Amino acid sequence: MTSVLPVAPGHAEDGPGRILELITTGAARTRTAIAQETGLSRSTVVQRLDALFAAQLIRESEENVASRGRPSRALELNPRAGVVISVDIGEERTRVAVLDLNVTIIGDRVERLALGDGPDVLLDRITATVRDLIDHLGLQESAVAGFGLGLPAPVDYEAGRVMGWSIMSGWEGYDIRRHLRRSWPVPILIDNDVNLLTLAEHRRFWASQRHLFYLKAGTGVGSGMVIDYAVNRGAQGAAGDIGHAHIAGFGDPQCRCGNVGCLESLAGGWALARDLRDQDLDSHDARDVADRVRRGDSEAVAGLRNAGRIMGESVAFATSLLNPDVIVIGGMLGTTGDHLLAGIRQVVYQRSLPLATRQLRIVPTKFKSRAGIAGAGYLVRDHVLNPSALDSLLAAGKSPFAMT
Ligand SMILES: [Zn+2]
Repeated sequence: MTSVLPVAPGHAEDGPGRILELITTGAARTRTAIAQETGLSRSTVVQRLDALFAAQLIRESEENVASRGRPSRALELNPRAGVVISVDIGEERTRVAVLDLNVTIIGDRVERLALGDGPDVLLDRITATVRDLIDHLGLQESAVAGFGLGLPAPVDYEAGRVMGWSIMSGWEGYDIRRHLRRSWPVPILIDNDVNLLTLAEHRRFWASQRHLFYLKAGTGVGSGMVIDYAVNRGAQGAAGDIGHAHIAGFGDPQCRCGNVGCLESLAGGWALARDLRDQDLDSHDARDVADRVRRGDSEAVAGLRNAGRIMGESVAFATSLLNPDVIVIGGMLGTTGDHLLAGIRQVVYQRSLPLATRQLRIVPTKFKSRAGIAGAGYLVRDHVLNPSALDSLLAAGKSPFAMT
């Protein structure tokens, strides 16, 4: 443990944690800029920075930034002060990754794990894979600052448990955090996969925007929202779970959840595959639908455009309710060209008031892959580098990382 200079008690808004946040977000990266941004005296800024240097949380960058006309050496987060474990459990495969604090992947593995094997078996296999990966990368387990896990299910974020109906049968109510804590004595954060996609998109590409709405159009349909720069999960963590909200006027097909007429029973990937089979076309799942669309298959393209208009009904409602700056469309069906987006745009602009859409952007995700991994990484990083928590740790002479 590195010795840390004593830090005068202060408010989160001017403590070392806040200064680290300014550096990490790029809002202020030189001593002069930090003094200007915080209104702190230069000597106080230097003292705060000394605490961050001592904890190895920051370093001088190679980059020079113009400051009052003079070039000045910029400061940056030390990305290797600790590492983050990020795990993205999917329906068919699970990706395990080790990230640095810039949320850059240092190494990753993909495993075919069956959700039906249940939490005990799966979490043990994930832990074994993480250990192997850490060892392979030549790292120590003590470098792990936190563990983030994304699940394709509704998650009670505070409790870290799956709740209600999901494709993860056998996981409901299971204490995932307690299981993982046996191996990982670090902050363990568990969230729904769509919330993590939403967070990743916001932090990496739209960090300056206040309000972002994310729609995942894959096998199922889900959404997430960033409100005032933070993911909004609602009271129990179910906010944004629009795939099982009823849509009127398009028929009432049976849904996977037991209800009828849910959005995903009309426009989800599994529903589009079903509709193609009804036309005697070979189509098993969302992947088959996406493949057909990419090949220009006219029935699949027509189905996807129609799905866009149906999803547009939900997105238009969300637009009226939230007035987002940007709407991002992701998921397997959202990244097959413009067909889905065209349908969504058409309905949103038709149904919403001009004030809500005047500056609205509706765009496809910018991630090519591994967005869920990035999302879990940002979730953990935001948590361990939270300004108030960090100030308390530093004031107690500790660091968020157990590195020597
Ligand atoms: Zn449903």
